[in-house]
Amino acid sequence: MTRRLVLFDVDGTLIERGDPAHVAAIDRGIHTVFPAAAHVSILDLDLDGKLERQLVRGVLAAAGLEPTVPEDSLATIFQTAAEFYRAAWDGRSGDHDLLPGIRPLLDRVADDPRFALGVLTGGIRPIVEIKFRRLGLADYFPIGAFGDEDVEERPDLLPLAVKRAEAHYGTPFPSNRVIIVGDTPHDVRCAHVGGATALAVATGRYPEDALRDAGADVVLPDLADTDRVIAALLTLTGE
Ligand SMILES: [Mg+2]
Repeated sequence: MTRRLVLFDVDGTLIERGDPAHVAAIDRGIHTVFPAAAHVSILDLDLDGKLERQLVRGVLAAAGLEPTVPEDSLATIFQTAAEFYRAAWDGRSGDHDLLPGIRPLLDRVADDPRFALGVLTGGIRPIVEIKFRRLGLADYFPIGAFGDEDVEERPDLLPLAVKRAEAHYGTPFPSNRVIIVGDTPHDVRCAHVGGATALAVATGRYPEDALRDAGADVVLPDLADTDRVIAALLTLTGE
């Protein structure tokens, strides 16, 4: 039996979209290193599907600055953002922004030997890790690929995630056994560019029709019906 690798997007898929502390943290990181861009927010850009390292370049370009960012500046931006985000959430916890059905679904999938779990997200690793710790999700996701990786765009994260999953789980994951679960057409494209399948969920800002038009292999209104999600994951990857 070949295991299936299920790679979850984070914002809009596991957790409600629009965490203002996350936006403020990334803005703070960029503005600390590039004060001349302080009048531009990542909210002024089209955020969907973008890696956070792409957003840094987008803010600089929108501010009329040279959008090439040295790696050490990027590292400082992300470190500042993570510190700001950590401070914003200090001492707060709770489930209030987990989307419906997520915890029971993750419990089931994590306990099922037919599946292996990971994340694939445009968010930077330190902020995603803070979110996961706060919401008690960290143990479900031993591997991931993140928005601060040294890659160009989201589809570049898929081979990284698969490689890390193969090393961690000690088993190969051929592309027909890899599923991306996400809330935007960018998640769908990321899956298909890499030969994987896409389960799209309309808990972000895209309605079911838009996700279907984007070519998602399965579209669900949300992930609340655990049996239905598991059945879809199995159908998409062959019994
Ligand atoms: Mg998302």
